Amino acid sequence: MDSLLKHMVDMTGHRDHTMLDLSVISAVQELAGATRTRIMTIATVSGRLYLRTRASIVAGKTARVEECLDGSPGEALAAYPELERCLEEHGGSAESIAPDGTRTLWLPIWFGDKASTCLELCDHKPFCSDTIHNVAGIVAVYRNFQNLLDYSERDSLTGLLNRKTFDDQLARMLHGAHEPEGCVPGMPERRQPQGEEKQWLAVVDVDHFKAVNDKFGHLYGDEVLILIANLLQSSFRAQDRVFRFGGEEFVVLLRSTTLDNAWKIIERFRTNVERHDFPQVGRVTVSVGFVGIRPYESPVVTLGHADQALYHAKSTGRNRVCHYDDLVSHGVLQAVASNDTAEFF
Ligand code: GH3
Ligand code: MG
Ligand code: MG
Repeated sequence: MDSLLKHMVDMTGHRDHTMLDLSVISAVQELAGATRTRIMTIATVSGRLYLRTRASIVAGKTARVEECLDGSPGEALAAYPELERCLEEHGGSAESIAPDGTRTLWLPIWFGDKASTCLELCDHKPFCSDTIHNVAGIVAVYRNFQNLLDYSERDSLTGLLNRKTFDDQLARMLHGAHEPEGCVPGMPERRQPQGEEKQWLAVVDVDHFKAVNDKFGHLYGDEVLILIANLLQSSFRAQDRVFRFGGEEFVVLLRSTTLDNAWKIIERFRTNVERHDFPQVGRVTVSVGFVGIRPYESPVVTLGHADQALYHAKSTGRNRVCHYDDLVSHGVLQAVASNDTAEFF
């Protein structure tokens, strides 16, 4: 089997965006013989375009994922005028030559009139037309396959990421979470500094949603779910991830923020829902339970803690946000030393 075909088989064997990215840059790197290949996200932050590296490979090394946990938007696109112009003109490729002779080739990946991913190749020698042709072929397969992966990761009603994607991302976050000093697995974080940045899991449940369906019918119920999904997307930050967990329940993974900020962001969402005028239905509220993500904890235990906080919010009036560790430290909830077996299910 020739090398191009082998790479195609490898690329399409993945069911995960990160593995697909790594496979694509490895293929492009080998076929083009470049000195460095990167795959980047093109993101808009406060009306400005930024490039954030997702994965990279340099000649002779294996491809690596570039995790961005600090919430920085990345490099400003304005630093790359050739690429900026190419994106404005909806072009297929852009090239620049640095004073030291290094050539950079960019291939934005277009989905309709939007490009949110870009491939970048750097080399000292010019890229020949055969190379550009092969790489463009890989980009086309990559685009189609990304589309399929995206479709399989999303919920069809709201367009949010689905339950399966949540399970994968929570497991990954628990695996990669930084252990705070003095943290004992299974015990509540009573002495955790207030200002420490960490990851958080919030479970959101629509209050009295059955009554919405009963009174206005399922179609209006569905519309409420779509509007709440939109409010989730607009209330949380670009680095947070919003999922439909099932029915009228949603979960959010908040990245790298302090407890104070997590409270503020979740409260902002709760009040945005409370103030929203839902067509026909009028006022709808949500209850939220959240918990800090701690290393070594099983996903079932982390979710169970957020659920306990949610049910406390429900039983104490609804339209509230409750924090698990806060409830434990006030003696409202009992902490149970966790192990890997199910605690609440
Ligand atoms: P609580 O405040 O305790 O959460 O009460 P609730 O009525 O929201 O909770 P309950 O679990 O009794 O009802 C949830 C309802 O959500 C029941 C189900 O019919 C409805 N539901 C679940 N998925 C969908 C959906 O996709 N569309 C619509 N329209 N309704 C849904
Ligand atoms: Mg529910
Ligand atoms: Mg509900």
